[in-house]
Amino acid sequence: MPAARLVTAASGLTSREVAARLDEHGRNELPAQRRPSLVARFLRELREPMALLLIAAATVSGLVLGETLDAVAISAIVAINALIALVQEGRAERALDALAELEAPSATVIRDGRRQLVDARTLVPGDVVVVHAGDRVPADVTVLDGDQLEVDEAVLTGEALPVAKRPGGVTDVDVAIGDRDGCLHAGTLVTRGSGRGHVVGTGLNTALGAIAEQLHDVRRDPTPLQRQLAGLTQRLGLAALVIASGVFGLTMLVQDEPSLDEAFLVAVALAVAAVPEGLAAVTTVALALGVGRMAARGAIVRRLAAVETLGATDVLVIDKTGTVTENRMRVSGVVQPDGVTHLPEAQPAALRDRVRRIVVLCSDATVDPPTGDPTERALLELAHGLDIDATRAATPRLGSAPFTSERKRMSTLHPHPDGAELLVKGAPDVVVALVTRVLVDDTQVALTDDGRQHIAEVTESAARRGERVLALASAVLPTVPGDVAEVEHDLVLEALVTLRDPPRASAAESVATVRAAGMTLLMATGDHPTTAAAIGAEVGIDGVVATGARLRSEGLPADPTKVPIYARVDPDQKLELVTRLQQLGHTVAMTGDGVNDAPALRSADIGVALGGTGSDVARAAADLVITDDDLATIVEAVREGRGIWSNLRKVVDYLVSSNLAEVLVVVVTLLLVPELGVPLFPLQLLWINLLTDGLPALALGVDPVDPGVMSQRPRRRDSRLLDLPHLRRLVARAAVIAVGGVVAVLVAHRTLDLDQETTRTVLFSTVVLAQVIYALVVRRIGVDHVQPNPWLWWSVLGAVALHVSIVLLPPAQTIFRTVPPPLEGWLLIVVCGLAAPMMLAARRG
Ligand code: ADP
Ligand code: MG
Repeated sequence: MPAARLVTAASGLTSREVAARLDEHGRNELPAQRRPSLVARFLRELREPMALLLIAAATVSGLVLGETLDAVAISAIVAINALIALVQEGRAERALDALAELEAPSATVIRDGRRQLVDARTLVPGDVVVVHAGDRVPADVTVLDGDQLEVDEAVLTGEALPVAKRPGGVTDVDVAIGDRDGCLHAGTLVTRGSGRGHVVGTGLNTALGAIAEQLHDVRRDPTPLQRQLAGLTQRLGLAALVIASGVFGLTMLVQDEPSLDEAFLVAVALAVAAVPEGLAAVTTVALALGVGRMAARGAIVRRLAAVETLGATDVLVIDKTGTVTENRMRVSGVVQPDGVTHLPEAQPAALRDRVRRIVVLCSDATVDPPTGDPTERALLELAHGLDIDATRAATPRLGSAPFTSERKRMSTLHPHPDGAELLVKGAPDVVVALVTRVLVDDTQVALTDDGRQHIAEVTESAARRGERVLALASAVLPTVPGDVAEVEHDLVLEALVTLRDPPRASAAESVATVRAAGMTLLMATGDHPTTAAAIGAEVGIDGVVATGARLRSEGLPADPTKVPIYARVDPDQKLELVTRLQQLGHTVAMTGDGVNDAPALRSADIGVALGGTGSDVARAAADLVITDDDLATIVEAVREGRGIWSNLRKVVDYLVSSNLAEVLVVVVTLLLVPELGVPLFPLQLLWINLLTDGLPALALGVDPVDPGVMSQRPRRRDSRLLDLPHLRRLVARAAVIAVGGVVAVLVAHRTLDLDQETTRTVLFSTVVLAQVIYALVVRRIGVDHVQPNPWLWWSVLGAVALHVSIVLLPPAQTIFRTVPPPLEGWLLIVVCGLAAPMMLAARRG
C-alpha cells in the first residue's frame, strides 16, 4: 500500500472511499474452508465399515449367487443410508456455520471524521482503526500512535507472552512477525494499552490469511461424548461380527437342508442390524441442534464439547456485575469529601465542573457510539450537556496508567500550567489510601484520620445499599513523569460517586434454579465486600464473604464451596479458586469479562465470557459466550446441556436394546422353530434397521428437554452413556421385545398354521411395530413429565405406513418376499407388537 494513498488519522476515510476500496480489495474475511464436494462426501460415507460390509454382501449375492434383485435392493439400502447420513451432517454443519456468523467481529474505526463501530468485515486498506486492551485486532495495521500497547500474538507465533508495539516501529514484512513492533496483526489480541493504526492488509492479505489453511477450527473438534460413542459403536460392531458368525454356524447346524449362501447373507444382515451405526450421526445432529437452540437464547458455544460439559457442571462461579445485576449502572449521588451528598443533577457548579473533568478525561468510554467500560459509560452521564469530544481534544493526554482488575484504578496525565495534572478514579479503598488532602469548597485541607474514618463510613453505607462507589482524585505535578503509575500518590480527593446497578428481576429465580439443580453457586467479584454482600442478599446468595485481602493472607478456605461470596478478588485469585475447586473434583463453570480473566476462563471446565461487556480476549479464551451476560441464560445453557445428554441416552437405550432384540429374535426363532428356515430374510433385517435406526432415533435425539433435568443432581463428568449395569437393563428390555416376536412366530406357525412365508411376514411386521412403539416408550421410562414430540409421532406413523406398504404392494412383496397375512395374522402382529413395549412402559426401569 503506497503511503500516498493513506489518509490522515484524524478524519479517516470517507464512506465513498470505503465503498470503492471494498470493491477493489474485497471484504475483510477469510474464505470459509472448502468442504469436500457432495460426491466426495457420499463416497466417504460408503467407506464406513457397515457400508463396506453391505456392498460386499450385495456383490456376493449378485455375482456369486445370481440374486440380482437382492443385490440391487441391498445397494439401494446402502445408498439410502449414506444419503441420510449426508443430510444429517449437512444440518449439523449449517448449525455450526450459523454460530460463526453470530460471532462476527466488530471494529472501531474513524471514518468521515467520526469514530464509529462497524462490522469488521467492511474494513479496507487505509481505514483508521482504534484498538483497546481486550480487543481482537481486526486487520493488519501499522501503528500510528499507541499508549503502552501490548499484544498477544500467540495465534500467529505461538508465543504466549505479550509483545509491545509502538508507532514508527519495524513494519518490514521480511522481518519475523514477532519482531515487527510497528504492526498489529489481524487475529491477535490487545492485552494492554490502546492505540490507533492504518489498515494495510485485510482478509487473505494478512499474516493470518497467509496461514488460513492451517487454522484449526476448534469448534468442530470431536467431543468426548462423540469419541465415547465412536468407541461404543466399534465395540458393538465387533460383538455383532461374533454374533453373526455364531448365527451363521447355528443356521447351518439346525436346518435340514442348510443353504450356505442364505445363511451367509442372514449373518451379514444381522451384523449390520446389530450395530447402531446411526448413533454417531444422531449425536452430531443432537449436539448441533442444541447448539443452535442455545444460540437463539444468547448462549454461543465456541466448542461443541462445552455442551456436554455444561450438563455435568456442579459449581458455577459467577461475576456480580451484569450477571446478577442489570449492568445498567446509574449515578445515584455525588459525595463531597466532607460527606455532603448531592443528587447528580443538583451539584454545586464548582463540584460539578471538577467531577466532569475527571470522568471525561480519565476515561476511555464514548457515549456515541456507546463503547468502553460500563462503569465509565455510566460516569459519563455526569457530563451530560458537555461536548465530550471537544473537551478531550482540548486537553490532550500525556500518559496514562490503565484500569486493571488488580489495580482497581485508572490514572491519566494532562498538561497543566504548573507542569502536569494527574487525574485518578478508582475503588475508594484503593484511591483513598493514596490520598493526603481533600478538596472542600475549592480549598484543600489535609486528610485527618477522622476524615478517613468518615469517608470509609460514607463508602460503607453506600455499599450496604448495594451501590458501587468510585473515588475521584487528582494531583498537580511539577514535571511530566515518565511512568504514570509511579506518581499515583499524595493525591487530592475531589469527590466520591455512587452508582446503582440493580439486581436483575430474574436473578433470584435463577439462583433458586441453580440450587434446585444441585449446583453450587459462588459469586466472585472485584467489587467492595459490602456491595457484594448487599447485592448477594437481594438475590439469595448469602453467607460468609471472603475478601481478596484475606485470601492473600490466609489462603483459600479448605472447602471453597462453603463461602458463597468472594469480593475484591483479583483475576489470579479467581484462577486459584477454579484450580482448587477442580482439585476437589468439581466441574467448574466460571464467568469473566476482562483481559485478565482469560487464564481463569481457559482453565475452568466451562469458561463463560460475558459477551455484552466482555473483551475479545475473554471471548477467545471462553468455551461459551453469553451475549446478554445474564445468569438466567447460563442456567438455560446448563438445561440444554443436560437435556442433550438425556436425549442421547434415550437414543443409545433405544438403538442398543432394539438392535439386540433383533438378534435375539433371530437366534431364538432359529432354535425353537427350525422348520421355518431363516427367520428373517437379509433384506427384511436391513429394512428393520433402516426404519428404526433412521427416523425414530433421530426424532429421539431432538426430543424436547425433559423439565425434570433441572431437578436432578448434575451427572458425574466421566459418567458413560452405557456402562455395564445399564447394559444389563438394556439386555432385559431387548429380551422383553424379543419375546413379543417369538410369541408371534409360535402362534402364527403352530396355532394359526400359517405357511412359512406368511409366518415370516408376521414376525417381520411384529418386530417393526414393537420397535417403533418402543421408540415412543423409551423416552417415558424413568421420566415424570413427558413433553410431546411431534417428530417422533410422525416418524413412527411414517415407519408404520412404509412397512404396511411393503407388505401390501405387489412389487415390494417380490423384493421383500412378504405375503399379506390373514386378519388373525394382523391381529397377532398388533397384539404382540404392542404388548412387548407396553410391558416395558409399565415396568418403568
Ligand atoms: P467486577 O467484578 O464488578 O467486574 P471490577 O474488577 O471490574 O469488578 O472492578 C473492581 C473495582 O474497580 C470496582 O469496584 C470499582 O471500584 C473499580 N473500577 C471498576 N471499573 C473502573 C474503571 N474503569 N476505572 C477505575 N476504577 C474502576
Ligand atoms: Mg468489571
